[in-house]
Amino acid sequence: MNDDQHESVLRARLGTSSPCWRLSIDSNALELTPSGGESAHVALALDPQQASQIRLLTGTTSHLVVDVQLDGAPLRLHLVGKKLDRNSWAGTASADDDTESVARSLLNSLAFAEQVVSEVNSIVAIVDRHGRIQRFNRLAEKLTGVSEENIIGRDVSALFMRCADGAGNANEADGAGIGQDINGFFDRGVSFEVERRIKTVHGERLFVFHNTFVQSGNGVDDRFMICSGTDITEQRLAQERLTELANTDALTGLINRNAIQDKIRAAIDQAAPDEAVGVLFLDLDNFKKVNDHYGHVFGDHLIRDVSYAIGTCLNEGDTLARLGGDEFIVLAAKGTAHGLEDTAQRILERMRTPFAVGLVEVYTGCSMGIARYPEHGDNLESLIRSADTAMYAAKDEGKRTHRVFSPDMNRRVAEYMWLDTNLRRGLDEGQLTLHYQPKLSLATGVVQGAEALVRWNSPERGQIMPTEFIRYAEESGLIGVLGRWVMETAAKQAAQWKADGYNLRIAINVSARQLADTAVVQHFTEALQRANLDPCLVDVELTESCLIEDEAAAIDLIKQFRQLGAQVHLDDFGTGYSSLSQLGRIPLDIIKLDRSFVRSINADTKAQALVRSMVAVAQELDFKVVAEGIETESEELFMKGLGVDYVQGFLYGQAMPAAEFERWLKDRQKLRLIA
Ligand code: C2E
Ligand code: CA
Ligand code: CA
Repeated sequence: MNDDQHESVLRARLGTSSPCWRLSIDSNALELTPSGGESAHVALALDPQQASQIRLLTGTTSHLVVDVQLDGAPLRLHLVGKKLDRNSWAGTASADDDTESVARSLLNSLAFAEQVVSEVNSIVAIVDRHGRIQRFNRLAEKLTGVSEENIIGRDVSALFMRCADGAGNANEADGAGIGQDINGFFDRGVSFEVERRIKTVHGERLFVFHNTFVQSGNGVDDRFMICSGTDITEQRLAQERLTELANTDALTGLINRNAIQDKIRAAIDQAAPDEAVGVLFLDLDNFKKVNDHYGHVFGDHLIRDVSYAIGTCLNEGDTLARLGGDEFIVLAAKGTAHGLEDTAQRILERMRTPFAVGLVEVYTGCSMGIARYPEHGDNLESLIRSADTAMYAAKDEGKRTHRVFSPDMNRRVAEYMWLDTNLRRGLDEGQLTLHYQPKLSLATGVVQGAEALVRWNSPERGQIMPTEFIRYAEESGLIGVLGRWVMETAAKQAAQWKADGYNLRIAINVSARQLADTAVVQHFTEALQRANLDPCLVDVELTESCLIEDEAAAIDLIKQFRQLGAQVHLDDFGTGYSSLSQLGRIPLDIIKLDRSFVRSINADTKAQALVRSMVAVAQELDFKVVAEGIETESEELFMKGLGVDYVQGFLYGQAMPAAEFERWLKDRQKLRLIA
């Protein structure tokens, strides 16, 4: 038979000279069907050798010639095709001998395209709408160690380990899930990118796949998804290391501010409606001092040891982070948000034992604030702010303790913010004045001097008492400027009164925070010089807290004040912690018995005995005694009985502006003349 005859045989049986062919794995019958899909159908018996020759075809389209019998007549068929899926091979058949050259040129251009796909430097897998792999390029074979013909027809999910979304977050969908998604992907038909982990011959690797859709014919089954993947494992690692660095505190190895914020935000997002998220804000109480005294290397050591110690006090699953400096945050694990007070208690307990750094042992306390979402803050910022506010409240209430946030703490913060802007301005704009409260000799009734007490005339709020802003001034450091202003104003007033013929000393209050600045004596000297006040008529009232922190330094300063001619008074005596033995070492002039003791003498005989012995000790140490806060004659009488030297209190006069003080003084002198 010649070619024309072959062709007419085919055309007669199938209505085409180039039908489609198909061979399955379990039968040696080569099926021929017209490409249009008409019902005509021819099955040709192949010998086993021919069948296995066809089954050697891979996913790459190639060409093959087989001699068969059709209706008893020999038929030479040119098959162009490839492995279609796991179980079948298919393509186009032709009886035309010339087909060979057609096929060859077709194959050449196909081969070129095939080669591009094969050799391209990415993994390429072509997937049909059922999720079955149809092509698998060379790099894919090399990396997976699976040959194309072994994977063709298999589900694409076999390739993937587990998947990650575009943002790189692992999600738990596994390979099976991908298969189910295939329909959706095909329906949408939109290109997309996805990250997948693949088991390669080099181990597990991370790939990013760009998936696009191509249509090769008209039918639904003629659409394919081209998945081309690039290995981004290294890139992601060069990236993960950076993320790790950006999230770690270099000193302690704990996670840092950034990372804990992310974690708290996530905890808030994931919290069930009835679930609390708890945070604990921790700040060391005396770290700055330790750092200044022993140096930064020591300070770093201490921070590391403290961070470890805090870690041992936490519950399973709690997260500890260092915010920087001596600040830490604990994010409570689920379910332990309400147990944070116990955690705080354990931390305080642990801090009672000293930390040994080299040969030095230091005690370091801490103050902690606790806040819970959603009760105390409904987002990250407000939650942390509340915990921070509660921590400050703990510091305020004596440090070495913890507080749970409450809304009235916010009022305090608001008050501080108001003071922050307004006190500074008040100082600049001359809104502060000194009032003078008389101090008298108890034996003679002669006015010996006055205590200068600061007042603030706020245009917004009227007169503000020092109890409302001195503490803020101390904490903000503004006390330095304020204190200098007090020194200069008092010195000027003393010089003025001296010039007017009065014989008065003025005592000013100097707080512990002011003494921390060793320039305080220099400022005092300058104030005296500027007022041309010689001899010195200004005295200094210090509280016991000035003596506690650094006794040697305090003694040194007291000596310097006294050398300048100032008397030094110990204010609020009895309220602090100074021991009687310590008192003996301090070069003081006068002790001021706190007014709470004066008040207590009305209550019971025990309190009277206490005051009696305090005065006795002062006298024993050769200090003069002032009783402050005398309001009644019976209180005065009691003090007289004890031999107290000076008195001060509303019974005699309140603190008054200078002019009023002068009037008060004149009136008193007139009265005394009459009497
Ligand atoms: P302080 O040094 O103990 O001053 C005595 C306080 O008791 C004054 O309150 C005074 O007005 C009040 N006082 C005096 N006699 C009586 C009395 O008989 N009964 C009662 N109930 N109170 C009496 P003030 O002026 O409000 O001052 C409060 C505190 O503010 C002072 O306590 C002092 O610690 C501080 N302070 C006042 N001025 C200054 C200042 O210029 N610098 C510094 N650092 N602190 C100051
Ligand atoms: Ca005072
Ligand atoms: Ca006092």
